[in-house]
Amino acid sequence: MKNSLKSSPTSVSFQREGSAVISITFSALSAMRDFARRSRDVECGGILVGHNKGRDIEVVAASDPGPRAKQSAAHFLRDTEYCREFLARSYRDAGADYVGEWHSHVVNLRQLSAGDLTTLAGIFIDPDYDFVSFAIVLVVVEEADLELLVYVAEISRKRFRRRIAVTELYRGRFPEPASGVSDRDGL
Ligand SMILES: [Zn+2]
Repeated sequence: MKNSLKSSPTSVSFQREGSAVISITFSALSAMRDFARRSRDVECGGILVGHNKGRDIEVVAASDPGPRAKQSAAHFLRDTEYCREFLARSYRDAGADYVGEWHSHVVNLRQLSAGDLTTLAGIFIDPDYDFVSFAIVLVVVEEADLELLVYVAEISRKRFRRRIAVTELYRGRFPEPASGVSDRDGL
């Protein structure tokens, strides 16, 4: 299985062979990095907003947890009301919809927890939404550095049974925008 990462001047896209593509703007990535960096002892996170294009997802912005979020070293619950307002504003200003969730881990758990997967299953089961795919970003806060993990959750229907498949698309440092010559030069 091959993971690939492609970057443009404004965003980076992640894919694993055959999976949906998740692209994230550098501004959304740096927002998540900054929120996570400022919260070294307790988890933080928020919602991801952007656009669905078939099963592919474009993430354009990431919210902060909000003032009434519940945050501890091994648990995180975002401020639902605050995130709802963030989404309404994003929708009004940029037509951006709810496309995913992000949060951080601060206890060196470098993967989604069982609780994270249960939460995710709840989102797919929610009759208010009809997701084909969903983006999940995890930021692991380590001593000196931050690790970025990008996942896509997709519904597969096999023999009339719905199954949620979670695929890791990326694990590594936060990608930086390519400096210098871009492929848009020469227009
Ligand atoms: Zn988690």
